[in-house]
Amino acid sequence: MRLISPKTSICAFLVVLGVIFLSVCACAGQISAAEEQHINPEIPVSFAQSSGTGATQLATAERVSVLQISASDKDGSTTVEISLSGRASFSSFTLPDPLRLVLDIEGAVLQSRPDPILINDGIIHRVRVGQFNPSIVRVVFDLSRVTSYTVVQTEDKPDVICVSFPKRVTGVEFFERDGRAEAVISGEGSLQYETLSLSGPPRIVVDLPGAVLASDAIEMPVSHPQVTCVRASQFQPDTVRVVLDLVKATTYSVSTSSDRPGEVVVDLGYRILGAEFSGDEKSTTVDVVSSGNPEVKFMVLAVPHRIVMDFENSTLDTTERVIPVGDGVVERIRLAQHSPMTVRAVLDLNYYAGHSTAVDPTGRGPKVEVFKSPIAKTVIVIDPGHGGMDPGAIGPTGLQEKAVVLDISKKVATQLQAMGAEVVLTRSDDVSVTLPERVKAASNVRADAFISIHANASRTGEPTGTETLYSGTVSMSRVLAESVQAALVSQIGQVDRGARERNDLMVIREAKCPACLVEVVFMSNLKEELLLLDPAFRQKAAQGITTGIMSYFQWRKDRQSQVSGGRDEKLPVTRDDAILPADNRAQSKEVVQPEEQSGSGEQPQSGDQSQPEDQSQSVDQSQPEEQLHPEDLSEPDDESRPDDMP
Ligand SMILES: [Zn+2]
Repeated sequence: MRLISPKTSICAFLVVLGVIFLSVCACAGQISAAEEQHINPEIPVSFAQSSGTGATQLATAERVSVLQISASDKDGSTTVEISLSGRASFSSFTLPDPLRLVLDIEGAVLQSRPDPILINDGIIHRVRVGQFNPSIVRVVFDLSRVTSYTVVQTEDKPDVICVSFPKRVTGVEFFERDGRAEAVISGEGSLQYETLSLSGPPRIVVDLPGAVLASDAIEMPVSHPQVTCVRASQFQPDTVRVVLDLVKATTYSVSTSSDRPGEVVVDLGYRILGAEFSGDEKSTTVDVVSSGNPEVKFMVLAVPHRIVMDFENSTLDTTERVIPVGDGVVERIRLAQHSPMTVRAVLDLNYYAGHSTAVDPTGRGPKVEVFKSPIAKTVIVIDPGHGGMDPGAIGPTGLQEKAVVLDISKKVATQLQAMGAEVVLTRSDDVSVTLPERVKAASNVRADAFISIHANASRTGEPTGTETLYSGTVSMSRVLAESVQAALVSQIGQVDRGARERNDLMVIREAKCPACLVEVVFMSNLKEELLLLDPAFRQKAAQGITTGIMSYFQWRKDRQSQVSGGRDEKLPVTRDDAILPADNRAQSKEVVQPEEQSGSGEQPQSGDQSQPEDQSQSVDQSQPEEQLHPEDLSEPDDESRPDDMP
């Protein structure tokens, strides 16, 4: 017996929490056909203070009367309220065979014997009430299954005893939608959850505290590359446990949506199955194969050149982590589980000459076309004019040509190297170099092109603009000069004096390869000298010259492929074995090794590192045979790799 004394007013209310541990359920057989009518739980059953029949002799002024018993659903939890005419003490206990919860209200009297309330919510079958003895009214809850319960009598309303039961979990579904696997736990009311990963065998466990499974235990075998079975059972009297048996350890996220609080979704995300590639003279296309179309974030990084793709909400489902390509532009493709829900694909490049992306129409993830540089593997000699004792032209403010052209030349060299060319500078310092030495520098390295860079001068300060000179004696020099002239004028926007033939300039006349001499602008013109003083202008000029050289080599490449007359040099270098079978069960013992770390050289993805908040790793002490997964998705630092990936 539990007495409610005024001392309990320290607390706002008094709670009696009980747990029915008995595993016996069922009592349905005892109900007569007449009683087998469902009563809407929302409709209270009133016990009218009828004229004294039955228990009249028990009614006294000291006794409280049971006025009403009602059952309702509060956020998925069945609650039974017993209204009295005043405060009363109560006690509760359970009885087996059949399973019942008994609530005895002390010193209470029942004015009439009401019909039972049928609930049948999977936990409570019905509620009965009767005068147990002259001073006790007994409320009996016939239960369908083991459950916990709470009895509350608040200080505010001491004349109401409230018995509530856990929320109900009504079922579990598993399906794959758009290449993405999901297990959906359905319940009534807003479900709480805790998750953990277990190994041996690998499992995802979702515990739903304060919930009761409104059915027998569920065991649902599924045919899926990641999951073999979905199970649900009453793990503890007030906790439902849902387990996904995995083929191998995998990453996942668990969430509820605000619009459907009764659903807990375990999202296994997309699977990244591997990468394929093919290519021709102009580009290499990389196809990262996935089970659907995950969101992808692209980054282009330099030093070394890389294209990085982060696949959100994805798990790597292949053992092939490094796929060699080696076709001149893409060195290799690397795949890794970068963070618990992000797969990272890195294309290691020899140089970066641009890329484009497209969605695979078959819905297997994006394709990336990496452009090949027309100057890849070419040898280009850049010749900064003058130097050392020879200052070249000197502008009105005293700017020396040798310094300006060296700066522009170095910028051009850097840009060409980034596009895959081998670049030789005839001088990289303020030193004297003779004209024959400059010509020899090109022939020594069997250069594919020679570009001498100068700034113009005239006796008067009037002439302005850009010109590029070539010698008619060297084949294709005119095309090179025209390409450079056009691109340079387009970039710096000065007067176009055109590409001009000049056969009196030794460095371009004696060259053994296509050669030209660029006069960027006029040093002798004050306005243009001031332009040359501006580093941003010099950068633009360098970009124009680089673009011109690139377009010359592109023209040459196109011409060569036309000359080769359809001889097929474009055999795609596909590797059909790049994709592993989706269901790689031979590797099922493998666990996720989070070897991926964000590299010190890769700043942009700092926002992607957050761990899903629901990856609770708390040890489940109540089930000692299920050990915590030792590789439970935490990410140890991989110091062996300072870069983005192994
Ligand atoms: Zn010059």
